[in-house]
Amino acid sequence: MAPWLPATEFGPAAVEAGDCDRCGTAPRLLPLCGPVAWQAVCRDCGLDLGDDGWCAGHEADGAGAREWAAALPDDWPQTVLLWWLATGELRAVDLLPRQRTALPAAVADTFR
Ligand SMILES: [Zn+2]
Ligand SMILES: [Zn+2]
Repeated sequence: MAPWLPATEFGPAAVEAGDCDRCGTAPRLLPLCGPVAWQAVCRDCGLDLGDDGWCAGHEADGAGAREWAAALPDDWPQTVLLWWLATGELRAVDLLPRQRTALPAAVADTFR
């Protein structure tokens, strides 16, 4: 298992299972605390927002979270979906077609 998955400050265990609040096309990963209205975003949106995703008191936390997110392997969305399935936060029947195609074929096949 990827060692970054169970982190509680950021990552799939730190947010509600689902898509990014901002773009809606990648899994959530980073919890935000304003000034923006989104509560949790994907890696790219987090990097895009920069300091705007975190309040003045948490700027250092935000910078740390973005540094962490930038270093993730490129297949992170697939790993995050598998984590949510493994922990039961996401059920196979709830997966969108787009999310299904993001999974390894061997895993997707077990849902048919
Ligand atoms: Zn996003
Ligand atoms: Zn804050």
